[in-house]
Amino acid sequence: MNGMFVEKKVQEKDSGKLDDLKISAKDCICVKGVETTASSKILAGYKPLFHATAVQRVLDEGATIIGKTVQDEFGFGSFCTSVENGVIPKNPHDEERVCGGSSGGAAAVAETLGKGHVALAESTGGSIACPAAFCGVVGVTPTYGRVSRYGLLDYASSMDKIGCIASTVEECARVLAIIAGKDEQDSTSLPDAVPDYAKALSKGVEGLTLGVLQVKGVDKTVQAAFDSACEDLKEQGAKVKPVSLPLTEKYGLAAYYILALSEASTNLAKYCGMRYGAAEKMEGNYNDYFTKVRSKYFGQEAKRRILLGTFARMSGYRDAYYLKAAKVRTLIIKEYKKVFKECDVILSPTMPVVAPTFAEAKKMKPLQMYLMDVLTVGPNLAGFPHTSVPIGRGLPKGCMIIANHVEEEVMLCVAKALHE
Ligand code: GLN
Repeated sequence: MNGMFVEKKVQEKDSGKLDDLKISAKDCICVKGVETTASSKILAGYKPLFHATAVQRVLDEGATIIGKTVQDEFGFGSFCTSVENGVIPKNPHDEERVCGGSSGGAAAVAETLGKGHVALAESTGGSIACPAAFCGVVGVTPTYGRVSRYGLLDYASSMDKIGCIASTVEECARVLAIIAGKDEQDSTSLPDAVPDYAKALSKGVEGLTLGVLQVKGVDKTVQAAFDSACEDLKEQGAKVKPVSLPLTEKYGLAAYYILALSEASTNLAKYCGMRYGAAEKMEGNYNDYFTKVRSKYFGQEAKRRILLGTFARMSGYRDAYYLKAAKVRTLIIKEYKKVFKECDVILSPTMPVVAPTFAEAKKMKPLQMYLMDVLTVGPNLAGFPHTSVPIGRGLPKGCMIIANHVEEEVMLCVAKALHE
């Protein structure tokens, strides 16, 4: 963890719903008075003057904040090896392997601390599900807008979501019930009522129809663990049917990376040495100055994404890339919605492989790393809630359960049927 810190709110009421829980916060989630940098050097030393709404809500229910967790800089990565301010976390199951990104620190801490701790994390394109699968813990990403993003350092605003990682489905469900719901500070937060998720967990899967996504290119051991998880749910009384999402499979990754990087390049524009983050001695014209600050303080992956995102938004390219990707995204949402007419949830492996070793990850070209997200970008692009639960033996693997918008209840119910 990065910067240990403990705060316990003095309770006005006798007991809070989360009195027994310790909570860590991903480094992109503001905790008042505690360095919050999204693991970027450009924000080194930044101590927010306020708590993110998610943090404030867990504190109000008696939870204890125990620290911040490292991540890929601004959420840019699938391995948590692009940590620019902090230490690269090692996989608790095998120190030679990565934790997954970008919430690698959150998943490693969740696996190490076990019960009684929930990590607040963030996902734009799979950053909760991926590290949860690689580290053998539960990762819950809610519907886009379900949890307030007030106090979240942004990556791509049309996809960023705060969720939880923990060793049990129940503890994630308890925390989600507290952090979800309308927040006046975030106009994109959903007004829908928040059910008591933990209560719904015992409902079981009998009578539910589960769509099993047919995917290619999944590692044999991951596929075998996934097949037996589906078999297990069938034995518990669920109906299982094969489904496919051809458009999402073919265009999901491309649409995601164009939209995410376009948004990231605009969101990062504010870190230019004037109002936010690191500053230098002002010399030359503004362009020289901004370049000096940004080239010194941003890491390599952030620079790559700023360049790619800026290119995709440039006049002349905007129609060909950004607008086209936005249209593809709408078609992808429709494709999922069609499947949800027949299925309560969709199941797929979370990641196509087990956690790579640091040596393997280092050898990969950026595009190869982006390809790792092939199964997680779909629900994130479309804003659907999804949960990864550990399955199989040996190195951790995950089964992802995707539900329709605001249907976290049924998603968590299926998750609980697969994992404690
Ligand atoms: N791996 C994806 C990316 O690099 C997802 C990151 C995230 O969800 N924050 O964009």
